[in-house]
Amino acid sequence: MLQVAINGYGTIGKRVADAVGKQPDMDVAGVAKTRPNFEAETAVEKGFPLYAAIEDRADTFEEAGLEIAGLVEELVDDADVVVDTTPSGIGAKNKELYEEYDTPALYQGGEDADVADVSFNARSNFADAANADHVRVVSCNTTGLSRVIAPLREAYGVEKVRATLVRRGGDPGQTSRGPINDILPNPVTIPSHHGPDVETIFPDLDIDTLGMKVPATLMHMHSLNVTLEEAVDAEDVRELFAGESRLLLIPERMAIDGSGKLKEYALDSGRPRGDLWENCIWEESISTVGTDLYLFQGIHQESDVIPENVDAIRAITGTADAEGSMETTDETMGVGL
Ligand code: NAD
Repeated sequence: MLQVAINGYGTIGKRVADAVGKQPDMDVAGVAKTRPNFEAETAVEKGFPLYAAIEDRADTFEEAGLEIAGLVEELVDDADVVVDTTPSGIGAKNKELYEEYDTPALYQGGEDADVADVSFNARSNFADAANADHVRVVSCNTTGLSRVIAPLREAYGVEKVRATLVRRGGDPGQTSRGPINDILPNPVTIPSHHGPDVETIFPDLDIDTLGMKVPATLMHMHSLNVTLEEAVDAEDVRELFAGESRLLLIPERMAIDGSGKLKEYALDSGRPRGDLWENCIWEESISTVGTDLYLFQGIHQESDVIPENVDAIRAITGTADAEGSMETTDETMGVGL
């Protein structure tokens, strides 16, 4: 059993911990937190050993009535792999700690690409992480774009990708980002940084992206135009996507007109936290004009990277190949509604 440490137990960390706990070949060795808030209490209730991420604050856990198993250094030392899910920029600072204990580490998309040897998306470049010590699971948006681009490249070849990313202003719990009521070109410069991030997965891809931010919390929305190397029928693209477990095609009959109903559907389906781990592609939006493909997809920023983290654990430890890992992850988590 792989012993997995999770450093940083917030939006991404708590989801990674739950997903790791479901795997037949992994155990949650422990989770590290900076302070004893509601998430720390839930971690203890779930039976995850709780470690203090900052030594000076270790006492605050005891004072809040939460027993800790030790300091993050001990957790990192004992684990086979650590998943760093701390806020953007902190992961790079933690790298030294992981190197000191010679523990392979995964980082998240908020870190710069150069924090790691490899930027990772399971569907696109699983094998590249095989001999790496430091792997970055790309951001929610880059994950969403990569999952669509990979099968299109294989089936038809991709000449150019143009994407407009309408991004949520903050996660539902991120009160620090609001209240807001505006529509921001963000970043206002074009192209946005998202395209170069996708190029960390597909170095030879021609892609331009534009970013916006809107006062929404539930999901991002991508408006995508891919120029293919051959003319293709929309129906063929639908069939191609239907064979991808992490692409969810929303049929017209379901009358899901936006992120609100999508999240409602996830909750009704019994998804934990209403998570949508798949790209949510509106089936009737898939259209072709000559070699140009168009579609809309919803990306649940809080959860689409979770199956990718589980696969990255197997990739960096060399314990499975892409197909085997993705199959196990999808089956145990219930990916593919
Ligand atoms: P978050 O703020 O919800 O959670 C981070 C947690 O780490 C918090 O509990 C925080 O208290 C804790 N923390 C802070 N400093 C720490 C330290 N030194 N050691 C240990 N823990 C520490 O953040 P998040 O949204 O989960 O983001 C984590 C990473 O995942 C970032 O790189 C982010 O860019 C990336 N990411 C976030 C999303 C998203 O939409 N939330 C999506 C994809 C990727």
